[in-house]
Amino acid sequence: MGTAVIARCSFCAKPNTEVETLIGGPGVFICDGCVQLCVTAIDGKPADAPLIAPWEHDLPLEQVLSNLGPVSAASTQVQQNLAAWVAKARALGGTWSQIGEALGMTRQSAWERFA
Ligand SMILES: [Zn+2]
Repeated sequence: MGTAVIARCSFCAKPNTEVETLIGGPGVFICDGCVQLCVTAIDGKPADAPLIAPWEHDLPLEQVLSNLGPVSAASTQVQQNLAAWVAKARALGGTWSQIGEALGMTRQSAWERFA
């Protein structure tokens, strides 16, 4: 466990300081506890289980409302992560044109969003 909060698990929101391992993906993270939950879910999953978007399930309003904060927090972390990666590209000499191209936007749009 580190001493500084660098990132939070995108699934349970625990910071790196409170988990054994935090694995990073493209702007997202998952902790060892959530990986274990995933392994259990995968092992117990019926072979013909349909894939349904989480918000398409039959849920009560309270559960939907309680999910909004965590989804928003995960989105905020992704946006902060993207800004940090763009700053890293700039520090390495990347031009706004290169960054815009990588993001599928114009040089001007990239500059307006991240400068
Ligand atoms: Zn987690």
